[in-house]
Amino acid sequence: MSVTPPTGRAARATAQEPYAYDGWSHGLDALQRQDPEIADLLFGEARRQADGLQLIAAENFTSPAVLAALGSPLANKYAEGYPGARHHGGCELVDLAERTAVDRAKALFGAEHANVQPHSGSSAMLAAYAALLRPGDTVLAMDLRHGGHLTHGSPANFSGRWYDFAGYGVRRDTGLIDYDRVQALAREHRPAAIVCGSISYPRHPDYAAFREIADDVGAHLIADAAHPIGLVAGGAAPNPVPYADVVCATTHKVLRGPRGGMILCREELAGRIDRAVFPFTQGGAQMHSVAAKAVAFGEAATPAFAAYAHQVVANARALAAVLAAEGLSVTTGGTDTHLITADVSGLALEAATARGRLAAAGIVLDVCGLPHEAAHGLRLGTAAVTTQGMREPEMARIGMLVGAALRGAGRDGGLRGEVARLAGSFPVYAPYPGHM
Ligand SMILES: *Cc1c(COP(=O)(O)O)cnc(C)c1O
Repeated sequence: MSVTPPTGRAARATAQEPYAYDGWSHGLDALQRQDPEIADLLFGEARRQADGLQLIAAENFTSPAVLAALGSPLANKYAEGYPGARHHGGCELVDLAERTAVDRAKALFGAEHANVQPHSGSSAMLAAYAALLRPGDTVLAMDLRHGGHLTHGSPANFSGRWYDFAGYGVRRDTGLIDYDRVQALAREHRPAAIVCGSISYPRHPDYAAFREIADDVGAHLIADAAHPIGLVAGGAAPNPVPYADVVCATTHKVLRGPRGGMILCREELAGRIDRAVFPFTQGGAQMHSVAAKAVAFGEAATPAFAAYAHQVVANARALAAVLAAEGLSVTTGGTDTHLITADVSGLALEAATARGRLAAAGIVLDVCGLPHEAAHGLRLGTAAVTTQGMREPEMARIGMLVGAALRGAGRDGGLRGEVARLAGSFPVYAPYPGHM
């Protein structure tokens, strides 16, 4: 498929702006020479990401600086333990990288302690539970049908196997968390921990209310801020750190860092959290990823990132309004975050069919459960397209393209070119010679 040459970048971005990415592919010459099969796959995937509209709420485009740290010789280093207390020699420099990542995370989120070693958001949750709970303890978390994550008690996950979960949900009339019900369930089940956080809730959790309910029953409060932590970094969402005993997060969603996890907590829990990560649930830290997290935290502390985070929310609100005008039923009537969930049954469509029609047009998003409904809905987010430099006018176009694709206009591939042109006008990475 041919790609329209980029046009929007020179007109819209300057080298100083964070989405004017460049040169992610330095160093790939060697890969191309040695293993063209895998190299072609990498370039094909880069082209796929560049040609379509990436609306998966959990995805983003990380910077070439982060990618450079990930592809560096730090990947060679074994570093079990923590800075100054490693089980391996030669850790002087990676110790500095980890200390920098920890210091930057603490400063960015106002946390007393940070652990930047979890390999993923799920690993962070595993360690948080291991630090605070014993197997068989009761945990109150968001019901999976209402937006809870696998680690919030799914029977297919360690959490559902090793702990006894009770689930709270959202109100049928408003789509908002029912705090009276959370309190009633807490008093009924006396959980050892309460988890707030979700994969699809488009509003901010009321962290103060959760804290009060947790205190009322003597439970720990774990905030699973995997999605909003990037908005928190940019000052575009409330910070759970002052309220929760432990905050778990990912570094690769709105935060725009490398794929990985992080835990923030108060000093008094620092030892338990650190031991729960290593040696209890993980071995050697991935120092290339730890260094890349430091780079991402450095980027996230800039005014440009704060502007980005606020634009992500503005874009999500604009897109939600256009999707509603296109006949989708937007959960809670809109969003306060990067994330939108919508019911497409008003268009007489199943969510899976809707996702297929959108995919055929080059618009990539997820299907998710809808609270109180048997049918599934669509979940999308604006973190990636905002990194590309798109703003409200582009959200209006995306909303109309989504509407057209859902009505079947793209079934003959008719929308594919228009989507590629729009996406191609906002490139994040410079093309690699001979590719894209
Ligand atoms: C993404 C997410 C996770 C897990 O992150 P992984 O890195 O995929 O393990 C955990 N909890 C919530 C709420 C999430 O959105």
